[in-house]
Amino acid sequence: MSVENPYKDGIAFCEGEFVPVAEARIPMLDWGFLRSDAVQDTVSVFHGAFFRLEDHLVRFERNWSRLRMTNPYDRDTVRSILMEAVRRTGFREAYAQMLMTRGRAPIGSRDVRLANNQFWMFCIPYVWIAKPDQKEQGLSMHVSDIQRVPKESVDPTIKHYHWLDLQMALMEGYDRGSDTCAVVDRDGNISEGPGFNIFAVKDGRITTPPEDVCLDGMTRNTVFKLAKETNLEIMAEALPADDLRKADEVFISTTGGGVIAISKVDGQAIGNASAGPVTRRIDDLYWSRRRDGWLSSPVDYDAELVFEPK
Ligand code: PLP
Repeated sequence: MSVENPYKDGIAFCEGEFVPVAEARIPMLDWGFLRSDAVQDTVSVFHGAFFRLEDHLVRFERNWSRLRMTNPYDRDTVRSILMEAVRRTGFREAYAQMLMTRGRAPIGSRDVRLANNQFWMFCIPYVWIAKPDQKEQGLSMHVSDIQRVPKESVDPTIKHYHWLDLQMALMEGYDRGSDTCAVVDRDGNISEGPGFNIFAVKDGRITTPPEDVCLDGMTRNTVFKLAKETNLEIMAEALPADDLRKADEVFISTTGGGVIAISKVDGQAIGNASAGPVTRRIDDLYWSRRRDGWLSSPVDYDAELVFEPK
């Protein structure tokens, strides 16, 4: 009789142990929860291999260091935990998120220096921000007046959980019948959306907001590489909301699905209201390179054990 894999729906690494994802818990008094004092990085696995794993590990480390946290696990161990997690699930396509939380300080203390910083991770089947039919058709986007938390308050290059601005903008978007949303910076220019960066194409030239108003997403960075390789002009510069509405093409980039067309902004059709030629070119290139194993770290599913929890 075959034994069911306890991790068939996903796995998490909590306080030094692997658990089925449905059993994953973070203590209520962890400041990661009570204060959003946390940082994350999300890596995707496609055809049994991580994409840009080393870049994600470096970014993750840079970010928790900036928040003055200490990770109990070094980079090699974190890599092994990720590999082991995917190996245990058996997923060939997966979405793996690693987190650091501030952790807990002695009860009643508000001294952030006393907290016991914690590493966590979970791995679930790959998350597509747009389902295949939505991707073909393109998503509709609402541009909210809500401002993204500014860089003077929270460093936007840190992949953090300050998401109330994004969540409320998404609610507004749903109220207006849109699939998703964008938030703006203090000058009313486009910042980013819930889990993605935003690009406009006008006369063959691609524009995306600069890194002081949004996360420098790993996929955004990949789009720059691919655009430059194919001699497409691409610039990081202020993107007024009106320029987005008047663009020939709009697309988003995310670990959760790669490159996805936006076919409507605030109810107005963009181009011919489906993925345009530049979007298709970058999207096709992104997935063909990934299928070819570009910048990938394969998971050894037959390994006995990659990482054994204590
Ligand atoms: N912007 C925000 C706010 C995000 O949360 C994310 C991803 O979660 C992105 C952009 C896209 O980043 P990446 O391409 O690394 O997934």
